[in-house]
Amino acid sequence: TNPVFTGLATTVFETMSRMAIAANAINLGQGFPDVDGPEDVRRAAAEALMAGPNQYPPMLGLPDLRRAVADHEKRFYDLDIDWTSEVMVTSGATEALADTLMALLEPGDEVILIEPLYDCYLPLVKRAGGIPVRVRVTPPEWRLDIDAFRAAFTENTKAVLLNNPMNPAGKVFSEEELGEIAAMCREYDVFAICDEVYEHLLFDGRRHRPLMSYPGMRDRSVKIGSAGKTFSLTGWKVGYITASPKLLDPIAKAHQFVTFTTPPNLQKAVAYGLGKEDGYFTGLASEMQEKRDRIVKGLKEIGFGVLPCEGTYFATCDITALGLEGGDVEVCKRMVEEAGVAAVPVSAFYIADAPSDFIRFCFCKRDEVIDGALERLSGWV
Ligand code: PMP
Ligand code: GLN
Repeated sequence: TNPVFTGLATTVFETMSRMAIAANAINLGQGFPDVDGPEDVRRAAAEALMAGPNQYPPMLGLPDLRRAVADHEKRFYDLDIDWTSEVMVTSGATEALADTLMALLEPGDEVILIEPLYDCYLPLVKRAGGIPVRVRVTPPEWRLDIDAFRAAFTENTKAVLLNNPMNPAGKVFSEEELGEIAAMCREYDVFAICDEVYEHLLFDGRRHRPLMSYPGMRDRSVKIGSAGKTFSLTGWKVGYITASPKLLDPIAKAHQFVTFTTPPNLQKAVAYGLGKEDGYFTGLASEMQEKRDRIVKGLKEIGFGVLPCEGTYFATCDITALGLEGGDVEVCKRMVEEAGVAAVPVSAFYIADAPSDFIRFCFCKRDEVIDGALERLSGWV
């Protein structure tokens, strides 16, 4: 068996969700909304399921969806994308990441990863033969240390993997940080793999800027999106990649032997969804912002040290502000069992030398669920 995978534990999200079920807890751990996405999008999937065809769609994805992705990139970011050669549909952003890393990395290539990082990045980079090189954004502000970032580049650097907006930090990279990242990618002639699944979940008037839209980045970036996040349908696992043909061609070669394709009715419905009016997308962000405000206010009242949250589904907290001891893993365990609220220890998002003072709460939940969790927590601490 392959040592990259045999040594791995079950993901922290699955583990916490199982614990939440066992403890009959309110699950603010794993990131998924507790209501289903828009009814019209679901109906489009149901209608396409019944109307068919339900056979293999084209390997790159249904033309309807590839066109819709290209139109989306134009509408929101003014990117001119050729849907025939620069868009591919995948079974979730996770498959997009796996295909991209398999296709672009050769053994020994260094990949710059920014901690705290989403859990699949490290095993996928390693299994593709890449060598992870770590830099960090540091709490409480989750700022990128630009000097450390610059120092991470070597002649062996092949790619930067950027998650913006960032899970679990809830961080949106600033224009200045993105400008620096782009400048380094140009200087060292490296790829940028951009996990932008939370592109429509930015708060307080922020607007997403894809790294791909920075000077010199158009043809060296792989931009990854997910219908799971954009339509609150995480179980659908429909993702999409935008990249120049030079990058997309090898990525498609990986895709054809990983999943080859994605259910056609879901593709059809996501194509419909991406065409929804602007109000849908702004509404998604503003509803989520209200939830962010609700949980942040409640957690602060209880005494948690809440860190800034500029986007995503997640708010991170400093547990030491409450005098909770034993570290994040231990506190999450006690919290699920004693308080009946599941969160996720942020140390799970580090490769090594993780801080142990932070936990992540997922707030894409109904108001009464958030309130219920806050009530349990205030009775517990
Ligand atoms: N990237 C990040 C940063 C995520 O939080 C997630 C979580 N769902 C994914 C990728 C995976 O997306 P998908 O479910 O579309 O595979
Ligand atoms: N992205 C989700 C999160 O961060 C989890 C997805 C999964 O369970 N793999 O919570």
